[in-house]
Amino acid sequence: MTTPPSTLQPPRRPIRELPDELISQIAAGEVVERPASVVRELVDNALDAGATQITVRLQAGGVRLIGVEDNGCGILRGELPNALKRHATSKIASLSDLESVGTMGFRGEALAAICSIAEVSLLTRVDTPDEPHGWLLDGRSGELQPTARAPGTTVEVRELFFATPARRKFLKTDATELAHCIEAVRRHALARPDVGFAIWHDGKLVAQWRAVVGGGMDALRQRLADVLGEEFVQQAVALDWPVDAPDDGPQRLRVWGFAGVPDAARSRADWQFAYVNGRYVRDKVITHAARSAYEDVLHGHRQPVYALFVSLDPARVDVNVHPTKIEVRFRDSREVHQGVHHAVEAALAVPRSGGATAEPVSTQPATAWAPPARQAPFSFAPREPEVGHRVSDVGALWGHGSAGASTGSARTDAFANPSDNAIAAYPPNTVRAEPVQALTHPQPLPEGDWPLGRAIAQLQGAYILAENAHGLVVVDMHAAHERIVYERLKQQLDDQQVASQPLLIPATFAATPDEVATAETCAGVLATLGLEVTALSPRTLAVRAVPTTLAQGDPVELARSVLAELGQHDASTVVQRARNELLATMACHGAVRANRRLTLDEMNALLRQMEVTERSDQCNHGRPTWRQVGMKELDALFLRGR
Ligand code: ADP
Ligand code: MG
Repeated sequence: MTTPPSTLQPPRRPIRELPDELISQIAAGEVVERPASVVRELVDNALDAGATQITVRLQAGGVRLIGVEDNGCGILRGELPNALKRHATSKIASLSDLESVGTMGFRGEALAAICSIAEVSLLTRVDTPDEPHGWLLDGRSGELQPTARAPGTTVEVRELFFATPARRKFLKTDATELAHCIEAVRRHALARPDVGFAIWHDGKLVAQWRAVVGGGMDALRQRLADVLGEEFVQQAVALDWPVDAPDDGPQRLRVWGFAGVPDAARSRADWQFAYVNGRYVRDKVITHAARSAYEDVLHGHRQPVYALFVSLDPARVDVNVHPTKIEVRFRDSREVHQGVHHAVEAALAVPRSGGATAEPVSTQPATAWAPPARQAPFSFAPREPEVGHRVSDVGALWGHGSAGASTGSARTDAFANPSDNAIAAYPPNTVRAEPVQALTHPQPLPEGDWPLGRAIAQLQGAYILAENAHGLVVVDMHAAHERIVYERLKQQLDDQQVASQPLLIPATFAATPDEVATAETCAGVLATLGLEVTALSPRTLAVRAVPTTLAQGDPVELARSVLAELGQHDASTVVQRARNELLATMACHGAVRANRRLTLDEMNALLRQMEVTERSDQCNHGRPTWRQVGMKELDALFLRGR
């Protein structure tokens, strides 16, 4: 039984125009969520007015008072009443202005909206001789009074949400609101090192960042250090990525700033600052691009830290998509994604152990300690038969030790004679060492300059200990080697095909029907990966060739795990989509095992290789491969003051 529709229908109401005050209050709902939103709008205005010094004064987390004082251009007396009106702005006059807008504001909405939900006063003076004093405007009454003031503007906002108590209930504690206000200023401060900022709360100075003279990267570095801490810049790499337009116009997109090293990543995404043409934004394209650049070096769910600035022709980005302008829309988001991705990825690829960053990653000042003489008395390297200078490449690390590891394999390894020099065992026509392209220094550095130092010992079969100018270097030998192998495989695959080497005696193994089927359907992919696996019978596979880089590993284990992964994917696209996972699996099999004894030469070879291998500071799972233990930390261990 349904009720007759007529009784459900609401009474017809006339269509009316809303009063201005109500329109502003509705707009305020979009623009002003909390005190920090007001702070952001007022600082925007101060910057648009050309201020070089901005002081923010807050009371009770900004709820009782937000005052923003600047030394900008001020507002002419005659224009003062307009400043508080809806849709009144000095920043654009036409649609074409909007398309190329270079100011923070342009909607002419903020002051009017704030006025509708708080008590606003505006004190301003322009810097002209015919204006001997400033003017104070009462937002409520519209009353104007002459007042003394230096050129510039102070906007005071009191009792936020006094007229809309419902909203006031959503506010958090004063401390939380204050933190949001500071964050809002911080976002501006990072984009404008040339402007000085100060924040006061309940009469106390809570933050102050002095204007940085000069500009460019150095100024940004200084401001980042002031705002986020010295540690941030020490653990970040500078990047500046110009992408030249192929035909039209000169430089279309520039990405610059600082990207934190993977070690500096945090559990929350709270230190990810992205700017488009100087405006702080929360943008999915940029966030995703940056995140993807960390994919290969960041462990698990850690969040990278960065301050990235994207500059592009204002006509190529729409800033008018969100009331608070925190979102933007790019005309070509692919271009931006690629630019950001490449800029960050390239910066992260350079190994810090290669000495590429201006600042050392270690927090130890380089001057704090002078390295002792080379023949340090505590050289307690294990005495091993010297394989000597012939083992100069990490490619030799697989040889001994890992040999009898392959169980259940019918393989007879011609290369696994422990007394043999692994390098000498390579067939003469195979490329033994494909040197990973040196990124930072084409020539090996002289001994004194080795960033990872000189190997002195191996610890518990797992760590290499080395000595450099800062103190002790500890290297996770398996993790480091795994990364080197992985990068080498990636590079070979980039050059079409992983270098392959036939096995003198094929390694056969009992296979499942699935494995046999995959080996057959994926023969092409396997070849690209440097593997040749053929069926000897419906239940037997033979590994006939393996990647040269992995020649000393266990071919059966390698083939099995690659087949298992291939079996899960569509063979035709696997090399594109799952390429890195596949290569990581392979590298894991190829990397030197723990408990394998290394000679000093082998250890040094590994250290030198790390210094020139991209991303060698992290293992394939994003964990660090090496750590610096500075002399200060060692001294602290022994309660020894220096
Ligand atoms: P919008 O910033 O979008 O123009 P606002 O409501 O924030 O809109 O400000 C309105 C106008 O008031 C601005 O266009 C500007 O001319 C003037 N104004 C606001 N704040 C300041 C300031 N601190 N110094 C100088 N002029 C200001
Ligand atoms: Mg504004």
